[in-house]
Amino acid sequence: MEHLRKQDPELVKALGLELQRQRDNIELIASENIVSEAVLEAMGTVLTNKYAEGYPGKRYYGGCEHVDIAENIARDRAKELFGAEHVNVQPHSGAQANMAVYLAALNAGDTVLGMNLAHGGHLTHGSPVNASGILYNFVSYGVNENTFTIDYEEVRKLAFKHRPKMIVAGASAYPRIIDFEALGKIANDVGALLFVDMAHIAGLVAAGLHPSPVPHAHFVTTTTHKTLRGPRGGLIMCRQPWAQAIDKAVFPGSQGGPLMHIIAAKAVAFGEALDPSFKVYGKNVVDNAKALSESLMAQGINIVSGGTDNHLMLIDLRSLNITGKDAEHVLDSVQITVNKNAIPFDPTSPFITSGVRIGTPAATSRGMGVEAMKTIAEIIAMTLKNPKDEAVLAKARGMVSDLTSQYPLYPGLKY
Ligand code: PLP
Repeated sequence: MEHLRKQDPELVKALGLELQRQRDNIELIASENIVSEAVLEAMGTVLTNKYAEGYPGKRYYGGCEHVDIAENIARDRAKELFGAEHVNVQPHSGAQANMAVYLAALNAGDTVLGMNLAHGGHLTHGSPVNASGILYNFVSYGVNENTFTIDYEEVRKLAFKHRPKMIVAGASAYPRIIDFEALGKIANDVGALLFVDMAHIAGLVAAGLHPSPVPHAHFVTTTTHKTLRGPRGGLIMCRQPWAQAIDKAVFPGSQGGPLMHIIAAKAVAFGEALDPSFKVYGKNVVDNAKALSESLMAQGINIVSGGTDNHLMLIDLRSLNITGKDAEHVLDSVQITVNKNAIPFDPTSPFITSGVRIGTPAATSRGMGVEAMKTIAEIIAMTLKNPKDEAVLAKARGMVSDLTSQYPLYPGLKY
């Protein structure tokens, strides 16, 4: 870092503060993770200098023979990891991966069935403020009011009523297993394409801890930076007959030159996910989420749907008389990082919310286990029950600091 320190001390100050924040806080944002030093190093390489529009062997620029190696490694590893027929590793983000799938398979105005954002879906699944909702005619399905789980019979009814060209599955805040086989059957019966955005659960799918959508879906996208623990970016998988259309939809359809340094880091992360140790990591993520949700419930805190099958849970704050916005704020003040999140059928606005979303991928990467989760549940419960009691908040801060000091983060790193 000596060049950076000399060149731009103003910026380095911000980097140092952020590193310290990550070290001092317990990171419970369900969509975040902590990448390995190897992934970090791959991002900071000379591959950032290279323009490589096109695909390996068919580029619009000279001098691509070495970045081709990196992109081929990333593609081959992703194929092996998920058993996919074709992959595109170029999307700059999850949102761009999703838009490329729509561009490849739909015409403007086509009807699509997607999961309601307010019930756990994602903006790119048809929100009216997102290009997906602006360009296509999205109809939404949600969760059942009693079970808070996806009602597959309701999805079937909606599919037959609206006859969508595509059904979109996947979510940002859904704590239960998604039955991709059932959705594949519905799509097949109604003659629709099935597109699964597995961004949140990709690492669990890779580790064999969540059923894979790949055998059931025409298209599967993911971000590479959530449970998959890679650099920030996107990935598309599809069946062979769609390969050309997907590649064209990414470039030249919706992107220019690929970020080759990020693709190199994706290759590193996929390599890590292929290692048997990643299965252990995935199991620890799920075990930790179970332990955290059970410990929170034992403290009298309501968890939407009564628990979790994956890496995340939603706290229903209504009985605690605190909003999601205030809960996020007070937890931040004791150095626990979460995000406010609407719960299904939330009576308050999306800027306030009645819930917070909590996930275990980052804390698990840091090495925390079930015992740490029990302590974290205790800290969260005492903080949310006493948000104005300075003595309690000070105690909570001390407990967080005891815990974080036991799990050093990037020990050799200094900005
Ligand atoms: N899809 C799902 C299900 C997500 O949860 C997210 C991000 O949170 C995205 C897509 C978008 O990913 P990105 O932020 O990389 O555009």
